[in-house]
Amino acid sequence: MTKPTGDAGHVLGSVAGRIGAATGQRSANTKATADILLTMIETLGLQAGDRLPVERELAAQLKVSRSTVREAIRALTSMGVLSARQGSGTYVTELSAERLATPLLYAVERNASSASALMDVRGMLEVGATELAATRATKADIKRLHRLAAAIHADQDGVRNLAADRKFHHAIHELADNELLIELIESVWHLGSTLRQRIMAGTDVLERTMSAHELIITGIESGDPVLAGAAMRAHIEDIRGWLEEAIKSPNALANGQSNP
Ligand SMILES: [Zn+2]
Repeated sequence: MTKPTGDAGHVLGSVAGRIGAATGQRSANTKATADILLTMIETLGLQAGDRLPVERELAAQLKVSRSTVREAIRALTSMGVLSARQGSGTYVTELSAERLATPLLYAVERNASSASALMDVRGMLEVGATELAATRATKADIKRLHRLAAAIHADQDGVRNLAADRKFHHAIHELADNELLIELIESVWHLGSTLRQRIMAGTDVLERTMSAHELIITGIESGDPVLAGAAMRAHIEDIRGWLEEAIKSPNALANGQSNP
């Protein structure tokens, strides 16, 4: 915390570069404005808790329209750089390196192609892990997987359900018996987790997840890597679809309810 501008400056540059992805189809103008806003936060040495000038002032200073400023602020708010307090203005939130050094975290939550790229990586790693698990699982392992799978209920508690999902997947990764593989999967698991918590509160998603998990267990139990891997692949593709749907129509799953 002794020299926030140096670290923050480096990190902010990286954040600025990612805003295009985070804002998806929005105008290049917005990205440019967001870049300028970030530079302004940095050069003015604004600290966590400092208030941003009002929209009108910013628009005049940056020589852009107020709607562009509004959109840039919205993008930075969604990335956690700014926060809006009702009736009081927009404030700079934490400028910690930990927070800002993970712009991918926000891109995955907001951008369908980033979310899809994440699922590509998970597919490569988890299908491989599941294939290995099929060659190694004992009866006791299968019993444990059934127990972990049963921890997900259609009770629409997304946080709890995603935690249970994580334990289930992790148990499969452990069966692959490869520490590096486990570490690699763990390093990407947290990406998109806020969105996944929301998705894991939808009835349709939960039902489909539970049956997908049962199919994965059946595949592993059969001892056939191809069957087990295919079951995990199908589950990953389901998740990809849900993420894309949630990003493209944020209100569809906003209340933790799937569309009927
Ligand atoms: Zn799962």
